[in-house]
Amino acid sequence: MADVSSKELYEFKKTLKDLAEKRGRGTELVSVYIPPDKQLSDVGKHMRDELGQSANIKSKQTRKNVQSAIEVILQSIRLYKQPPETGLVLFVGMIPKGGPGTEKMEKYILEPPEPVTTYWYKCNNEFFLEPLEYMIEEHDVYGVAVIDRNEATYATLKGKRETILGHLTSGVPGKHKAGGQSQRRFDRVIEDLAHQFLKRIGEHMNEAFLPLKDDLKGIILGGPGFTKKDFYDGDYLQYELKDKVLTIVDTSYTGEEGIREVIAKSADDLENLDVMFEKNLVQRFIKELIKEKGLASYGEDEVRNNLIMGAVDVLLLSEDLTSMRKVFECQSCGTQKEFTVKNQSEADKINERCPNCNEILKETSSQDLTDEFVEKAEEMNTDVEFISSETEEGMQLLRAFGGVAAILRYYVDY
Ligand SMILES: [Zn+2]
Repeated sequence: MADVSSKELYEFKKTLKDLAEKRGRGTELVSVYIPPDKQLSDVGKHMRDELGQSANIKSKQTRKNVQSAIEVILQSIRLYKQPPETGLVLFVGMIPKGGPGTEKMEKYILEPPEPVTTYWYKCNNEFFLEPLEYMIEEHDVYGVAVIDRNEATYATLKGKRETILGHLTSGVPGKHKAGGQSQRRFDRVIEDLAHQFLKRIGEHMNEAFLPLKDDLKGIILGGPGFTKKDFYDGDYLQYELKDKVLTIVDTSYTGEEGIREVIAKSADDLENLDVMFEKNLVQRFIKELIKEKGLASYGEDEVRNNLIMGAVDVLLLSEDLTSMRKVFECQSCGTQKEFTVKNQSEADKINERCPNCNEILKETSSQDLTDEFVEKAEEMNTDVEFISSETEEGMQLLRAFGGVAAILRYYVDY
């Protein structure tokens, strides 16, 4: 999914979030996943079978709703000769807006960001979203490295797949073999060799990971002994990569086996890594904020200005940002003014007059504040990271900084 932009990904995630909230009155919401190589005529045949089967559904209302959903699916797939490149995913069902009788047929047809691998037909009181959610998880790439005195192996982890990128050996002899030279001199030579080795590891990792840095969600270091910590503490990794180090874990093995050990230890809970990644970002922002001439900015207006100037490196948006951005316009002269409001009733109370002709300004367009920021970020090639409120740092971003913050590319004076 490397060619999917952060905006597309964000919109896709948003659609999934909306879909996840929808519930049917009965088990009558239909989800169909069609892999790209599946014959649509087979899908049609299966749908007609299901239509026949649905005659056995006891509740009259549910039966009727399932049957109309299947009819809609049959109509929809008729528009295709074959599934698109990544397949087709359909969600169809009657969604209630309020009490009984308020149900409306809703239909969502998605071309997923990655190929559908398994054919699914599911009928439930909610949509079946797991395969799509899994695709998004897959997007996250982590760097992994296992380092000790003698060798270093580094890899990427995407979903549950690891790819070994490189393996280095030090040739540093063990500490015990004193040889013919004096022990102290020998130790110094060894220390220098060890330093050279860490430097070499850093160079190789920088070369391998820097081109991936925008996709790299984090780096996990592991290995037996203290070398991995020495590697982290010394500035062997380029600073942007060093900032991405999420955790350092102890392993018994090195090499490929060590990589798998690190993954097993941390992949138990990749969600934890997500959380760590988010905490890390907010902490980075706060670290910049308290520095003199730090690269940090927060608050809606200030961040918007910096974003438009192209000064924002990473935009941090709270997932719980619910404000809306509204454009109001003078109906006579077209003068526009923008407002951010918490909800519609707040927008309805806006009673501003045109500075030119004194007419009351009318609302002409509205979008989520989040969408506005994501669009501007996209235009400026700025990374957007969404921060949940699950952590203390995430809550801080929302409460203390209004849910909008930025790590800047360069210092901006106000
Ligand atoms: Zn006017």
